[in-house]
Amino acid sequence: MKREEKARRIQAQLDALYPEMEIPLHHEDPYTLLVAVLLSAQCTDARVNEVTPSLFARASTPEQMARVPVAEIRHLIRSCGLAPAKAKAIAELSKVLVAEHGGKVPASFEELEALRGVGHKTASVVMSQAFGLPAFPVDTHIHRLASRWGLSRGKSVEQTERDLKKLFPTESWGRVHLQIIYFGREHCPARGHDLAACPICSWAASKARIARETKTPRRGKP
Ligand code: SF4
Repeated sequence: MKREEKARRIQAQLDALYPEMEIPLHHEDPYTLLVAVLLSAQCTDARVNEVTPSLFARASTPEQMARVPVAEIRHLIRSCGLAPAKAKAIAELSKVLVAEHGGKVPASFEELEALRGVGHKTASVVMSQAFGLPAFPVDTHIHRLASRWGLSRGKSVEQTERDLKKLFPTESWGRVHLQIIYFGREHCPARGHDLAACPICSWAASKARIARETKTPRRGKP
């Protein structure tokens, strides 16, 4: 089956499985989403959602956050991984938003990626989920699933992002990104899985891959 056909079939399946989705990270506006996405690196969304209420009760705008000492931010987010680096990034990017962007989150990749702690994936989530602009955030989970489903042979998340953008209509990028995340959470166990029993891998993964991985259950994340 051609990749384009596979992508159409996967999209139809995902649309049927996840017609409505909530954005997993709780937020009020582009700034609180930006901070939440930054916190989600090497941390579960559930943990981020536990941490952000007290952080945003203390400061929920760049102006307010810029006045909070880094040590206090670090304390408030201490249960997320990489708290020291994330606290510095939140403090610094908040100051830059105030000084250079009028206290607003900019809606451009270039300006977002210039902020401390904001990489392409974080910028893509903000562009898509805060501003509704075309972006296809690809993390390691989406990268692995795109490979298993035969949608990309990309060796890097960047290449996979380019491949997925060609396969799915631009207006669906943000939705498909979320649907793949939801699918992975529901269907991809942390250890051992059965490709032949999986609603998508069973027909989209190559036969050789199904035979190989069904005999030797995979360990680790999908
Ligand atoms: S559960 Fe396993 S078989 Fe199913 S999509 Fe995830 S990686 Fe593929």
